Amino acid sequence: MSSNNLMNYIAGEFVRQSSEDWMDVFEPATGKQFAKVPHSGPQEVDQAVAAARAAQPSWGALTHSVRADWLDRIADSLEAKYEDIAALESRDTGKPIALARAVDAYRSVANFRFFADLVREQGVERFEMSDATNIVVSKPVGVAALITPWNLPLYLLSWKVAPAIGMGNTVICKPSELTPMTANLLMETIHEVGLPSGVVNLVHGDGVGAGAPLTSHPDVDLVSFTGGTATGAKVAAAASPQFKKLSLELGGKNASIVFADCDLEKTVEGVTRAAFLNQGQVCLCGSRILIEDSIYDDFVEGFVDSVESMKIGDPSDESTQLGALISAEHLQKVEGYVSIAREEGGEVLTGGSPCLPKEFENGNWMAPTVIGGLPVDSRCSTEEIFGPVVTIHRFETEQQAVDIANNTRYGLAGSVWTGDLEKGRRVAEGIDTGMVWVNTWLHRDLRVPFGGVKDSGVGREGGRWSLGFFSEPLNICLKSNKISNT
Ligand code: NAD
Repeated sequence: MSSNNLMNYIAGEFVRQSSEDWMDVFEPATGKQFAKVPHSGPQEVDQAVAAARAAQPSWGALTHSVRADWLDRIADSLEAKYEDIAALESRDTGKPIALARAVDAYRSVANFRFFADLVREQGVERFEMSDATNIVVSKPVGVAALITPWNLPLYLLSWKVAPAIGMGNTVICKPSELTPMTANLLMETIHEVGLPSGVVNLVHGDGVGAGAPLTSHPDVDLVSFTGGTATGAKVAAAASPQFKKLSLELGGKNASIVFADCDLEKTVEGVTRAAFLNQGQVCLCGSRILIEDSIYDDFVEGFVDSVESMKIGDPSDESTQLGALISAEHLQKVEGYVSIAREEGGEVLTGGSPCLPKEFENGNWMAPTVIGGLPVDSRCSTEEIFGPVVTIHRFETEQQAVDIANNTRYGLAGSVWTGDLEKGRRVAEGIDTGMVWVNTWLHRDLRVPFGGVKDSGVGREGGRWSLGFFSEPLNICLKSNKISNT
């Protein structure tokens, strides 16, 4: 068996699945198969849930401080593998190595460190009454299913594993079948540091085989899901009748609102980054750019120049800014939206097929694409494309900008670009969304709430919101029976 045939990790052991059913993993840049993952089913899910259930009481009984020390040990060991994380993530997802290092490797380590500190600080809350004292203690929820997508594989998995185990839960990870490599590396790390067996388990496989049995499993108490909105609806339908605790981080169609009083140069740079980071495959990407009428032509000229100057190609080249899309199917979907845009009357201002060396000709490549001239309610302007395609639109008033921003079923993020911070805040408050950046984008503080409204999800993770989600508060009211003599 090749070393790139990954195994499930259950009860502290790397184990073979029960069948000989494997799924191929492809390199997005070349289209070549380079690994296999088990196509696990209900039997593997049952084993992993049983292992997590068995480990939970003793893990949950440890103090916050002891569990925080374990998170720090995992962070130390992951940090030593920083370059491996970046290289694996770049190969597995097709993203540029420089991005994989600065974003994926950096955040995966930072997530464990951040939650180690936050968990360590957890205390018991007290509320005094005239004749009694209330104390609120945080108890673990129990066994947690953590399901993640392919765009930021270890970044998002570590964002769930760290707070979940930090608060005393035991977990079953189900990473995307398209990008399993760094989840495997996390299991190797956890094995190496000697985390008690069964605290973290991993089942590889697809949504139908492994994801669905996990979300409907009667012995799973909590589901934290990040992925597409249509899948989120299925997860909710499976988990809700059993009243599992549920967090859904779903899709987005975020607006970047550009006012005439912005710093044009910085805004062009920021809006380009917001549109095309990770080939536009970040749920927070600003894929609808709304521009105040008086600077529309100047902005569009600068923006198109900026987009055309981005270097696309070999993900392992340090100077590459744009890599490949995740899969041939996804490329087809994204290209399909460009055809729809043309049918809807849109004009492609830049984009088309990138010109790449021969070794990449079977990869999933698409040049960054900007589309103008579409109505604000067209499909390309309101549906999530999740690729390097943006639409641009004009507005005349603040209210018009807010109305266009809200003209979608999604409500995850957004950005406003203006020299007037009061206006920036006012416009931000008008947008039905979970997060808005003013004069910046994806400027993350791990303490703040992260999540969306409408079709972008239910609940918040991040900082104390994660700790709250991954725990249950128990209120104990203590009244002394001593009879007072006074
Ligand atoms: P996806 O919904 O296809 O898959 C996500 C995960 O769910 C995968 O592990 C998949 O195997 C699993 N899955 C599929 N069907 C399932 C089922 N029936 N039951 C349980 N699990 C199932 O999403 P994707 O294509 O991997 O990721 C892209 C999507 O994720 C985009 O819509 C993007 O906006 C969203 N996303 C959201 C956030 C956020 O924080 N809001 C972050 C990253 C990505």
